[in-house]
Amino acid sequence: MSQHITTKLLHTGTPAFDADTGVAPVNVPTVRTSTVRFANTSAYYDVFKRKKAGERIPSYGRQGMDTHHALQDAINLLEGGNACFLAPSGVAAISLAFLTLVSPGDHVLVVDSVYGPVRKLDESLLQRLGVQLTYYRPDADQAALAALIQPNTRFIYAESPGSLLFEMQDIPALAQLAHQHQLLLVVDNTWGSGYLYRPLQLGADISVVAATKYLAGHSDVMMGATVVRDPALAARMHDTHYALGLTVGADDASLALRGVRTMPVRLAQHQRNAMQVAQFLVGQPGVKRVWYPALPDDPGYALWKRDCFGANGLLSLTLNTTEHAVACRFVDALTLFGIGFSWGGYESLVSLVEPSELAWHSMWRDGNHRLVRLHIGLEDADDLIADLNQALNTAGLLA
Ligand SMILES: *Cc1c(COP(=O)(O)O)cnc(C)c1O
Repeated sequence: MSQHITTKLLHTGTPAFDADTGVAPVNVPTVRTSTVRFANTSAYYDVFKRKKAGERIPSYGRQGMDTHHALQDAINLLEGGNACFLAPSGVAAISLAFLTLVSPGDHVLVVDSVYGPVRKLDESLLQRLGVQLTYYRPDADQAALAALIQPNTRFIYAESPGSLLFEMQDIPALAQLAHQHQLLLVVDNTWGSGYLYRPLQLGADISVVAATKYLAGHSDVMMGATVVRDPALAARMHDTHYALGLTVGADDASLALRGVRTMPVRLAQHQRNAMQVAQFLVGQPGVKRVWYPALPDDPGYALWKRDCFGANGLLSLTLNTTEHAVACRFVDALTLFGIGFSWGGYESLVSLVEPSELAWHSMWRDGNHRLVRLHIGLEDADDLIADLNQALNTAGLLA
């Protein structure tokens, strides 16, 4: 009988019963260790033989132990992957994907709605390594994209939906185009976190997720994961991961694993709340546009409906003002939304998006109007709506 992923997620990585007492804890213990001990030299040599044959046996702390393995299994289950590499942040997981795939002289196609720090990776490291990036429009058709492919292009880097305007990309079409040209497709899947969206099942080769967001889910962990299906690609990534010395602490792995268990119920509530807030904001005189892919008017709605299993708590709104001071007054008047980056925790957050950041998003359509991104948390939706209403009022945006 095939079980729903929510059920499997709760029963993945369950600790084994103690052979002597027949008792086991519910949760995987937090195994903190910097190194392991071998019983004798024959065990030592045996471990390396079995590792070489592909078994997951730790021989040093950097590779993690039970806690890490249970988390890797849960993320593989969500993403539909075979190998999951943990990294100390989402950005580290992105860098791992790039550094696994590029060599000097290579070229990469990157969507222009990409998470901002990827441009930093480009400017600070990739350019220095002689790797060239070309940014493409998220709505580019096959012919437009094909025209950007060069003989030295190695992969397409997508993010769907984007994390400011939620631009949806046609991942199956991108995968087909990439594979026709012997390229790989890498997708930042932080928005979907493996539960709302499964790029590997839609044809992508690598899925990257910031576990900092919904996977850990409580704003108390920084972590990233890079997930692949193909064993040869996993072997390449393993070597790069090893060379970079990437590792995460057992306590953080334990917190992320705890978060993953409840992610489906949290996401369902984030979505319910965000939809109610979005419906309140649509048609408010102070709001020019609401960006949320689950709204039928959103440009990404058709692809979202086809490829996603739900939406999350992230939405943006274009305020009906071009004045920085008015936007600041709105943000400052909010009482239930913390002003801050990031998202995916239980709490509501607001961030005022800088026009300079919107400038490189080709799907941005509201000129000099100010964009505010909200993460709708798990508070009561009516309270969040009342807070937004009074803040619009205070900012003079209701007139
Ligand atoms: C937050 C985020 C990241 C980076 O995660 P960190 O853990 O903060 O480094 C990457 N991609 C997207 C889409 C994000 O929102």
